[in-house]
Amino acid sequence: LIFNPSKKISMVTIDDVVRHALERGFFFPTAEIYGGLAGAYEYGPMGVRLLEGIVNERRKRFVFTVDFPVYEIHGSPLLPRAVFEASGHLEKFNDPMVQCKSCKSVYRADKLIEEKLGIDAEGLSLEEIGKIIKENDIRCPRCGGELSEPRRFNLMFKTYVGPVIDESSEAYLRPETAQNIFIAFRRVVNVFGGSLPFAIAQRGEAYRNEISPRRFLIRLRVFRQMEVELFTAPEQVREFSPLERFYDRKLRVLRKEGKEEEARVRDLRGKIPDTILYYAALESELFEAIGIDPNKIRFREIPEHARPHYSSFNLDAEVELSFGRVEVAGNAYRTDYDLKRHAEHAGISMEANYGNKRIVPHVTEPSIGIERLIYAILEHNLEDDGRGRKVLRLKPSVAPYDVAVFPLVKKLRPKALEIRRMLSESGLRVRYRDKGKIGKMYAWADMIGIPLAVTVDYDTLKDGTVTIRDRDTREQERVHIRDLADRIREILKNNRS
Ligand SMILES: [Zn+2]
Repeated sequence: LIFNPSKKISMVTIDDVVRHALERGFFFPTAEIYGGLAGAYEYGPMGVRLLEGIVNERRKRFVFTVDFPVYEIHGSPLLPRAVFEASGHLEKFNDPMVQCKSCKSVYRADKLIEEKLGIDAEGLSLEEIGKIIKENDIRCPRCGGELSEPRRFNLMFKTYVGPVIDESSEAYLRPETAQNIFIAFRRVVNVFGGSLPFAIAQRGEAYRNEISPRRFLIRLRVFRQMEVELFTAPEQVREFSPLERFYDRKLRVLRKEGKEEEARVRDLRGKIPDTILYYAALESELFEAIGIDPNKIRFREIPEHARPHYSSFNLDAEVELSFGRVEVAGNAYRTDYDLKRHAEHAGISMEANYGNKRIVPHVTEPSIGIERLIYAILEHNLEDDGRGRKVLRLKPSVAPYDVAVFPLVKKLRPKALEIRRMLSESGLRVRYRDKGKIGKMYAWADMIGIPLAVTVDYDTLKDGTVTIRDRDTREQERVHIRDLADRIREILKNNRS
């Protein structure tokens, strides 16, 4: 048997990913013992570590940058009604829905049209949607029944704060983390000075009452975002000097005229705002660092009718998956829309320093959906040899552990435990196991994506050496225990790029 790790032996489907994620402890259905909660998943122990890896890699690039100051906040997911009146979400954050007149199933109307007719229906008016459904005789996919007229459904979860239920106590779970940043803007400026450009970053849960959550981690009601709001002067959006270090980076871009090209950032300038290119470049760097297949990343300029209500330019990052392309990040030029709206509604000024002037800044926002990235990582890195042997080729940066430690036989347990303790105390994330034959233990480590395994055998007792086995090449090398932690670090570091 010749094993070729570079060759994908059989195509991984969404069902394979779901099964693997559940069986290997990456995710659990929320409230599983009560039949689940549609659109929500719990992170299992392996998922939590994968999440941590993504968050760290993103912070390195989007927060700990020296290009300009980035202030990180962590805000409340529950916000008063006034915030969403000002932001426009109460009025505009809705999707068109239709209901089956016989079985009462509900559907998101634009997605239903897209699935049935293969056309882009996002942003169509209710009249247009109703007309398309009638003209094409689109019926309930479940029972063939007639569908209702489409109507708007607001996607925010509403609740009340305190015991009195009226409009003054109305509150909403945030549908995006961004609003916390806009309402914190003035205090950040007051405390930290706020000379443009600067950014505020946040990561956290967001909630959307999706009409039909589906496809595992792809369309959820409870999900996590990593967002940055970059505040600049309006002219800096088109002329942003921190972009210079990315001039030679290549991006695959689909312009709104429908032309897909791979182009250097310097050649995309003028067609796409500098600040948007800056974050697209950072995203492409991040996605590669966490193990998304670089050949499956594309940036798409969103036509005006499909853009969010606050955006005047959108370049979304899309990843190719087994069932089609999915948006994993949205880069929006929000102009001064949000700050102006909050200034008006709250009756305060929302200004920052630019030279010796005070101005309302313009905002560029990269917004990354964490669960979609995780799904893409799992699908792009899960390999199946067709005989049930699965390997999850996670990059060390997002793997749940750095190294596994196994004794060849149970008798060697005390020595193996001693080595585990030593590696753990050196700061490595170690998983120990002594169940079954060594081949089975390797297979187990491969399935949860641990990049390296250390095996303790009889020679270890004689000469103090152990074997390091590489998940991807299956090569083994003999190392003395005193050099072990350093050698592991060295291998992991070389695999990180
Ligand atoms: Zn029906």
